[in-house]
Amino acid sequence: MDIIVLKPAATAKEIRHIVKKLDKKGFKVNISKGTERTVIGVLGDTSIITEDESNAFASLAGVETVHRITQPYKMASRNFKSSNTTFRVGKQTIGGKKIQVMAGPCAVESGPVLLNIAREVKKAGATFIRGGAFKPRTSPYSFQGLGEEGLKILAETREKTGLPVVTEIMDPRDIDVILKYADIIQIGARNMQNFRLLREVGLYDKPILLKRGLSATIKELLMAAEYIMAQGNQKVILCERGIRTFETATRNTLDLNAIPVLKKLSHLPVIVDPSHGAGTWGLVSPMSKAAVAAGADGLMIEVHTKPAEALSDGEQSLKPEKFKALMKELKAVARAVGRTI
Ligand code: PEP
Ligand code: MN
Repeated sequence: MDIIVLKPAATAKEIRHIVKKLDKKGFKVNISKGTERTVIGVLGDTSIITEDESNAFASLAGVETVHRITQPYKMASRNFKSSNTTFRVGKQTIGGKKIQVMAGPCAVESGPVLLNIAREVKKAGATFIRGGAFKPRTSPYSFQGLGEEGLKILAETREKTGLPVVTEIMDPRDIDVILKYADIIQIGARNMQNFRLLREVGLYDKPILLKRGLSATIKELLMAAEYIMAQGNQKVILCERGIRTFETATRNTLDLNAIPVLKKLSHLPVIVDPSHGAGTWGLVSPMSKAAVAAGADGLMIEVHTKPAEALSDGEQSLKPEKFKALMKELKAVARAVGRTI
């Protein structure tokens, strides 16, 4: 018994009574008030609830039905919330009809370089600027990012262009400084199962872009989202960014299946990062188009004015003119699937 649907006429007293009973059994609740009905999500290991106990809850005053969810994720599940989740970030709506494009360099390198890139991607139609200030690099000797200085540059760029900022958090100890500057906090693929970090970002009302781990299943991605949501933060964006397979022709294998699968299993917005998915700039355009055609709510694309001089991921970064051409082509694909861009 994991979801309790209340009668439209359920009173506050009846709801309190139900919540108290659940609390006694050690369960936390998430109460979501819809336009017609209120639904109580029961959080915790509900598998220990017997059929008899479940029936007892179903017969409490104010209760219409009780649904048991067999999936291990609940708040992220479409069974819990059937309508698509949408939320606003600045002037933009994530998860709505409009496809959101987050573009920018892999890493923040300097103020002038970022501003240049931001102006170019904005002109082409991007709605967010991306860029890492804390970079998860495979080698400890590679450029690790500018840290808080990079965050300040992102904030200045937002001021000058109006583009909201997407940037990665790597360590829960950086939460205060990241909250100060970011509009969307990214959790990178390598940290998808950093549960301490997931719990931390779940405590705030700040959208989280959660990237699929390099070897994570779709179920594991949804469980990671559940970690964030169970803390109270419902603004989670799922991001397919390619997974490790036996294939060596590309950096990763972009799992396009994940888009419709995630949309079916979850109400959360889904975006795709073809840059990391492919690992080479020549594949970014076709994979972006495929992602939009398959139902993605957004794209995250690495763009750099001088890819050959980029401090990270230059080989998969589009030059502004290529990005501009792609955005033009994406308009037609979006229109074909009833979306705008
Ligand atoms: C990035 O967005 O630059 C990044 C490091 O992505 P991922 O975590 O998907 O590798
Ligand atoms: Mn990158």
